Amino acid sequence: MSEKEYTPQIALSIQAHPDDQEFTVAGTLARWVLAGCRVISVIVTSGEAGSNEPSKGAGYKSELSSLREGEQSAACVTLGIQETIFLHYPDGELEPTLNLRKDLTRLIRRYKPDTVVTGDPQSIFYGSGYINHPDHRAAAQAALYAVFPSAETRLIFTDLLDAGYEPHKVKRLYVHGAEKADTWVDITGTIDRKIAALKKHVSQLGDWDPENMIREWAAEEGKGHNSQYAEAFKVMISEEDKPES
Ligand SMILES: [Zn+2]
Repeated sequence: MSEKEYTPQIALSIQAHPDDQEFTVAGTLARWVLAGCRVISVIVTSGEAGSNEPSKGAGYKSELSSLREGEQSAACVTLGIQETIFLHYPDGELEPTLNLRKDLTRLIRRYKPDTVVTGDPQSIFYGSGYINHPDHRAAAQAALYAVFPSAETRLIFTDLLDAGYEPHKVKRLYVHGAEKADTWVDITGTIDRKIAALKKHVSQLGDWDPENMIREWAAEEGKGHNSQYAEAFKVMISEEDKPES
């Protein structure tokens, strides 16, 4: 079986903001759900800084936070994801702290995913026009180090152990937005769901229809990989789970 067709049994998607998942990996998650995978979405902040409306001040944040949690939950349902967890870290001020790493470690030990999906903590510049949001890098770094070494090492965060969270080894880490991808997941069958899910983030899209852009990105990733539409990843596979070659 090639990595392109790999389907996890349980996958944890860890993203900084509501909508990150829908812009990036939603086609892959929807594909896995259709194949029988249980997917749990973990959203580290609630996106409450996501407004530049001049009439809004700090008091708007709690309202926007609830609005965006509702949009994210609706997007997840569109993708077939029934479990969405918000960690309520501050949007726009996220850091890869030990506290965040511990919270993610607890979730990994609780849900025991074989696969974790997150961003690339190393990516700062995309092309010449987009600087990666520091929250994305912070969430990705905390997720990466929660996967290894924290979740699988018994004596890291022993208070989790005392609370009954036994170590768990994640087999695969799917990293999106990596400079050098090595795996392309065909999302031709689920790109419509990805677009429909993204459209649930009404507070962020306004009147803009993202469909053409999403199709262009996915068509670009599919070129040369036998796919009309694809999402690209760098995939880390634990040694004992590597297929025999
Ligand atoms: Zn974001």
